[in-house]
Amino acid sequence: MSSGRYQALKGMKDIMPPDIHVWQSVERKAREVFSAFGFREIRPPIVEATGVFTRSIGENTDIVEKEMYTFEDKGGRSITLRPEGTAPVVRCYVENHLYNMPPPQKFYYAGPMFRYERPQSGRFRQFYQIGAECFGSPHPAADAEMLSMLRHFLSGVGLPNLKFQVNSIGCENCRPAFKDSLVAFFAEKIDDLCADCRRRYGQNPLRILDCKVEGCREARKGAPRVTDHLCEDCRVHFEHLLLLLEKLGIPHSVNPEMVRGLDYYTRTTFEVTSENLGAQNAVAAGGRYDRLVKEFGGPETPAVGFAIGMERVVELLKAAVQYDLPRPLAFLAMLGKQAGIEGVLIADRVREKGLWVELGDAGSSLKSQMRRADRLNAQYVFIAGDDELRAGSLKWKRLSDSAEGEVAIQGVVDFLQSLS
Ligand code: ATP
Ligand code: MG
Repeated sequence: MSSGRYQALKGMKDIMPPDIHVWQSVERKAREVFSAFGFREIRPPIVEATGVFTRSIGENTDIVEKEMYTFEDKGGRSITLRPEGTAPVVRCYVENHLYNMPPPQKFYYAGPMFRYERPQSGRFRQFYQIGAECFGSPHPAADAEMLSMLRHFLSGVGLPNLKFQVNSIGCENCRPAFKDSLVAFFAEKIDDLCADCRRRYGQNPLRILDCKVEGCREARKGAPRVTDHLCEDCRVHFEHLLLLLEKLGIPHSVNPEMVRGLDYYTRTTFEVTSENLGAQNAVAAGGRYDRLVKEFGGPETPAVGFAIGMERVVELLKAAVQYDLPRPLAFLAMLGKQAGIEGVLIADRVREKGLWVELGDAGSSLKSQMRRADRLNAQYVFIAGDDELRAGSLKWKRLSDSAEGEVAIQGVVDFLQSLS
């Protein structure tokens, strides 16, 4: 079979039925759960000035160094397809003075992100995230609330057994000393590190801690642990978070090597992983970013957020949950020209009520129309030929148990509403 003249770009894919039903149910659940936590939707543009990302995510991160879709527009401005959602939300928060509203202000977003990565299982160049951001609370209760919301969402869609890993990477008071101790630790091991980590050594040594390369894993055995280097405030903050997670019954483990790939995090970082995903096993990730709003020119505003990777959630769900495909409530099998016209009118009245009804081709045989009703998995079939029309009624049949009856044409809408 020919694949046509054009293909979707590498790393980008069409999301179609039947998968789209899984996507939609995940999105519905997110809206439902997030609303119960007081989060409201925000829809920033998909393209931003490049600086929105380079300055926040950090010049020396994988995203900014290698993965951004950056272009010059016709006016010579450097613009970038968003690789993540937090920086645009912060830009929006500051630009629109949303900090003037009483804190905390809680927002969520959903939509496509773009990263020029090597496509592989669980890694795409256009992928979708649903994310949430809470502005204005420094308290660990806000961090716990985010994790609790994430848990309710994930178990709500049918993924109750995921692993929560948490860490604290400290603040501007304690992180510099920790960085120094890492630099000292790796000084004699530089030759054992991968090329990326040799570069990170000078710029962002924390990133060596979560490098996936085997040699780097080996080299960091016995490295200083960030959780042993927190200042008093960060330590108390983290301990309080752990206490709340305990009380909330959120199963979690502390992973001092989880530092995350974005520079803006302070204190709490977390990741939700699944053993059923292979190498790209993070379903969602996030953390606290207490300095970012200020860096964008807003007032000092502590904040915490997360982003869920939709493709990975959908992949897990397809393996774990049996989805019922949506099916029409009724199929109208009409026989003959007059019946065909009447069928169009009946279908129109039923659809006006928001009920799904499909209409057969009145010019084809009853047998072929019934075949189509079967293929569509319709719940009821209504049959009318010219005889029934003269009598002002339709025959109906329920396909699950072959129950049958008759209903007046005038009463079809009420009848179907009572069934739905
Ligand atoms: P990873 O370690 O998986 O690369 P990351 O640190 O780049 O993750 P974040 O930027 O924090 O991830 O994004 C949050 C979530 O978005 C990830 O946990 C993952 O589920 C999803 N995600 C990130 N990059 C991609 C991608 N290229 N394709 C599909 N999903 C992605
Ligand atoms: Mg990544």
